[in-house]
Amino acid sequence: MMRKKIIAGNWKMNMTPTAAVELTNTLKPLVANEEVDVVFCVPAIDIIPVVKACEGTNIQVGAENMYFEESGAYTGEISPEMLTDAGVKYVVLGHSERREYFGETNEDVNKKVLKAFEHNITPIMCCGETLDQREQGITMDFIRQQVKVGFLNVTVDQAKTAIIAYEPIWAIGTGKTATADQAEEVCKGIRDCIAEIYDRDTAEQIRIQYGGSVNGKNAAELFAQPDIDGGLVGGASLKEDFGEIVHW
Ligand code: PGA
Repeated sequence: MMRKKIIAGNWKMNMTPTAAVELTNTLKPLVANEEVDVVFCVPAIDIIPVVKACEGTNIQVGAENMYFEESGAYTGEISPEMLTDAGVKYVVLGHSERREYFGETNEDVNKKVLKAFEHNITPIMCCGETLDQREQGITMDFIRQQVKVGFLNVTVDQAKTAIIAYEPIWAIGTGKTATADQAEEVCKGIRDCIAEIYDRDTAEQIRIQYGGSVNGKNAAELFAQPDIDGGLVGGASLKEDFGEIVHW
């Protein structure tokens, strides 16, 4: 099974709308590679200008979060329809920073995943363990729970198109990348979990990214692993380094 690699930048809370357009214009020629899916996941306020700046390129635009209701009295939230109307194709859901600082639970993430599919937005569902959990030897138990709850009531056809990002929390923004073997072991475990929930064919189709201090130097070894289908890239997605990752 040849899965197309997907490399997504996660800009987090960086880039004013003006800076976002400048960065997009700088990166456009550097990330031109039709052999992979390239996604810029950007702050909500940057979506419209970045979508416009990406017209006619291979870059797709994603959001970093979304609410699970359609509309109404949810001050400060962004609805799925707002995203699709603005041209968004992907949404990062359940990032560890949202789980840690904004109290998002597996159940919240599941509601958002279902809502994203309802609106034809591809979810990039994040999972990953803390250093403490890794040291206790419970990494896979913890991640299996995140995946199982996150995918509750997701149909088999939907699951085939989903993206899962494995991001060990201890590797995010720390410069401490998981080794290729560590990353592969968990990504394979996630694929096996999908095979248990659905079937082997679905597991072979779903794309699983690694995230956590990915850069132009370590991308090649990570992406060479059989169960790693690309990366979710934070810090390095704000620099020209992102071009190197896309052409690993
Ligand atoms: P990082 O972030 O590449 O800066 O470690 C990854 C992420 O949080 O998605």
